[in-house]
Amino acid sequence: IFNFSAGPATLPLSVLEEAQQEFLNYKGSGMSVIEMSHRSKEYEAINAGAEAVIKELLGLGDDYRVLFVQGGASSQFAMIPMNFLGEGQIADYILTGAWAEKAQKEATKFGQTHIAATTKEGNYARIPQLDEIKLSEKPAYVHITSNNTIFGTQWKQFPDYGDIPLIADMSSDILSKPFDASKFALIYAGAQKNLGPSGVTVVIIRKDLIEQGNKNIPTMLRYDTHSKNDSLYNTPPSFSVYMVGLVAQWIKKQGGLTAIAKHNEEKAALIYDTIDNSGGYYTGHAEKDSRSLMNLTFRLPNEDLEKAFNSEATKAGLSGLKGHRSVGGMRASIYNAMPREGCQALADFMKEFQKKNG
Ligand code: PLP
Repeated sequence: IFNFSAGPATLPLSVLEEAQQEFLNYKGSGMSVIEMSHRSKEYEAINAGAEAVIKELLGLGDDYRVLFVQGGASSQFAMIPMNFLGEGQIADYILTGAWAEKAQKEATKFGQTHIAATTKEGNYARIPQLDEIKLSEKPAYVHITSNNTIFGTQWKQFPDYGDIPLIADMSSDILSKPFDASKFALIYAGAQKNLGPSGVTVVIIRKDLIEQGNKNIPTMLRYDTHSKNDSLYNTPPSFSVYMVGLVAQWIKKQGGLTAIAKHNEEKAALIYDTIDNSGGYYTGHAEKDSRSLMNLTFRLPNEDLEKAFNSEATKAGLSGLKGHRSVGGMRASIYNAMPREGCQALADFMKEFQKKNG
């Protein structure tokens, strides 16, 4: 089966096999990682190793931490304003989809927000141009969503506002391409798309920002709690962290982010070319210059054909292609771990389906 689900999503087969091999007896410890104390030497090494390899892939130094927390990316929508949106301050949000809207809406519970740009008109089919973004006078931070899982759009060039902290939800494209991570004050991602199983949220945060967090909020919701305790303040989702470490090591073995990006571009091209060469039978939702390399959204001429497409694709071993209801049609999520053969199989299926039904 090729699994095109938006998340939880497919993981590299070799990583699953590695985890399977180690499952009952992790490196001779006589225990499974899921049975192991999070205070053990073995788990501490897993935890520190996962942080180190993610920093290495992103080229980040001592001024950053990688934290492993729980509550999903959705909890970050609240944790960020709770920590960094002080009284009388305004936080700027750029709305490029439903997840960005949720992040902004959550922030309004803790303070004032300003919508610096939105592409809601046109059902989020594009990322705004940098010159469309109008910041408030002195924002506490600027929040973006780097890849819009539902709509299938992705930022190609990130804004840079100097000293103003730039915060990104990278849940659906983290570690999928090289970029200058040091331009970001905070990056967060639920692991279940590009990084591993659900249950852990990766937070990459600049140390000076950690210090600025509000001290009068619940202990578990403070970044400094997790930083001071190396993500071991309470019992972590240890198996998920272990898997994230294995996936990050796998990315490194593939040649790091540059090699992964090339692979991702080639994979996406197989499907986008099929859409573009279909004579209008398939239409992409995203505008071309905003197209995501992770979530590819497209429609067929009518809903009956879309239903037939989905059911025949499922029978052919192409699973999870039904689009989100707010866009309709199809969505192929092809994160890092989707092999090229999966994209080729989908492209072939699309051509065949059009021949039969077009
Ligand atoms: N942000 C983006 C861009 C997402 O795609 C998702 C989930 O699909 C979320 C946030 C929510 O993540 P979680 O389920 O980890 O809270």
